[in-house]
Amino acid sequence: SGFKQVREDEKSKLVGNVFSSVASSYDVMNDLMSAGLHRLWKDRLVSGAQSITPYGDSLFLPDSSDFFSRLISKLNPFPGMKHLDVAGGTGDVAFRVVERIKSVSHRATQGTLTDMEEDTHIYVCDINPNMLEVGKKRAAEKGYNEEQCLSWVQGDAEALSFEDGSMDGYTIAFGIRNVTHIEKALSEAYRVLKKGGRFLCLELSHVDVPVFKDIYDIYSFSVIPAVGELVAGDRQSYQYLVESIRRFPKQEKFAQMIQEAGFEAVEYENLVGGVVAIHSGVKL
Ligand code: SAM
Repeated sequence: SGFKQVREDEKSKLVGNVFSSVASSYDVMNDLMSAGLHRLWKDRLVSGAQSITPYGDSLFLPDSSDFFSRLISKLNPFPGMKHLDVAGGTGDVAFRVVERIKSVSHRATQGTLTDMEEDTHIYVCDINPNMLEVGKKRAAEKGYNEEQCLSWVQGDAEALSFEDGSMDGYTIAFGIRNVTHIEKALSEAYRVLKKGGRFLCLELSHVDVPVFKDIYDIYSFSVIPAVGELVAGDRQSYQYLVESIRRFPKQEKFAQMIQEAGFEAVEYENLVGGVVAIHSGVKL
């Protein structure tokens, strides 16, 4: 039985390695394909702040003219909130929500944990248990597990296991494009949110800027599959990625779908000319 024990340990080590190599090549690819921009886009999704970049804010090419309306339309995480990040993968968005809440409440209380902060809970939901496994590990490395503010839940965006009206916020980043029935995912988002709860979706979208559109087309049809083959050894998956971006509804159409799911004050913001868009809505 001692022998068996060793073998089981070896096995879980091997399996763990496979998970982390999948997740780390996934991270490398994200950085490569977006030139690191996905990090800034996720910052923007969570904090609503213009990230300070070496290139300046113009990188985001925001569409909306009313700066204030854009700011209040964003998630604005707060201490005590219940937040659900769907298709949360390895925790990229959830960790930002935790950090944001910490920074907000530390500003208010000068470093002491308030009762409100202790009530904070962030749920990461993903259909793929391997991604969640890596996320959990990363959370432990960041020391988040001790705070008990994060839960990792395997589940489908189209049939969430959370109760009606239980969440203050819902995010989905680079996830809704992959679900089979977008309408179902949207109506589930609406169902689990409280009144006043915010829906935010970050997704690769459609470029509609002359010349830039042509450059982006070349980039996505030629460069992405080639890099996918070179770096991840997987041309097909990246070909599929590009096709799934094309098939995804355009900004206006997707905004309409969000409205049809019941959300109010629906709007979107294009970043980098529509390479990605952040759609948002409120449940009233
Ligand atoms: N949100 C993370 C990020 O921005 O880095 C991960 C994005 S990754 C491109 C897409 C994720 O969606 C994967 O982790 C995948 O397992 C998950 N996913 C795909 N279909 C899903 C579904 N129906 N319900 C929940 N998660 C899903």
